Amino acid sequence: MGMPSWLNKVSSPHPPSVSGNATTDDIRRFICPCLACGEKQVEPGDGHQYALVASEIAREASMELRHFFQLYENHDWAALNHIQKFDGTVNAALIYAVQCNCGLTMLAVRSPAELYDSDSLLDARVVGESEATVIKALPLTFTSI
Ligand SMILES: [Zn+2]
Repeated sequence: MGMPSWLNKVSSPHPPSVSGNATTDDIRRFICPCLACGEKQVEPGDGHQYALVASEIAREASMELRHFFQLYENHDWAALNHIQKFDGTVNAALIYAVQCNCGLTMLAVRSPAELYDSDSLLDARVVGESEATVIKALPLTFTSI
């Protein structure tokens, strides 16, 4: 008798990693298709880059978390960039910027504390040129997808 199929699912919840980096894999998954350039299948090394802009603890529906998403709704990227809270034992809300030749896409991501849960995309939106200029002036570290 073979192993029950559900056991396989528990032991390997993530698809095989392309980059060796789970975050990079998640971002690539979220950016297919890329809202800025329309690329359906973003591939490693094709010029797409991402950077973490902000992170907030999402233990519960706190005032801080509401404020965090209000800043996101208001496209207040500079204020968001000041919020860099992290606690590996609780869920987090993360804002990423994804850059390609055609522009900048902002991603709001829910990152669960549970190691075996995947990140999930809450929202994605392309920003205009003036906002992109603001974002590119922030102290961000871009990583190739
Ligand atoms: Zn693109």
